[in-house]
Amino acid sequence: MAKANTVFVCSNCGNESSKWFGRCPVCNEWNTCYEEKVTGKVNNKSVTKKIVTPIKLNDVKKQDIVRTSTGFAELDRVLGGGLVKGSLTLVGGEPGIR
Ligand SMILES: [Zn+2]
Repeated sequence: MAKANTVFVCSNCGNESSKWFGRCPVCNEWNTCYEEKVTGKVNNKSVTKKIVTPIKLNDVKKQDIVRTSTGFAELDRVLGGGLVKGSLTLVGGEPGIR
């Protein structure tokens, strides 16, 4: 059965999505999303898929993450060594405890 399919493609990086996006999740560019009609035979063979090769956990390269100490040893321990630049950490506590 032939049916029309729509994909949303980022004009900046070529990221394809089945849903419309205002901001590309891959390159973080705004308003680069355009609709592209995929017509004709829609089957798995005609759809271009990126080939993802699985790698062993041992082969995963460890990233050197710079952690900044909060000055609180216990908090640093919970955070895995400190705050990571560019990350967001939500820290909560019970009211009344100082
Ligand atoms: Zn993009």
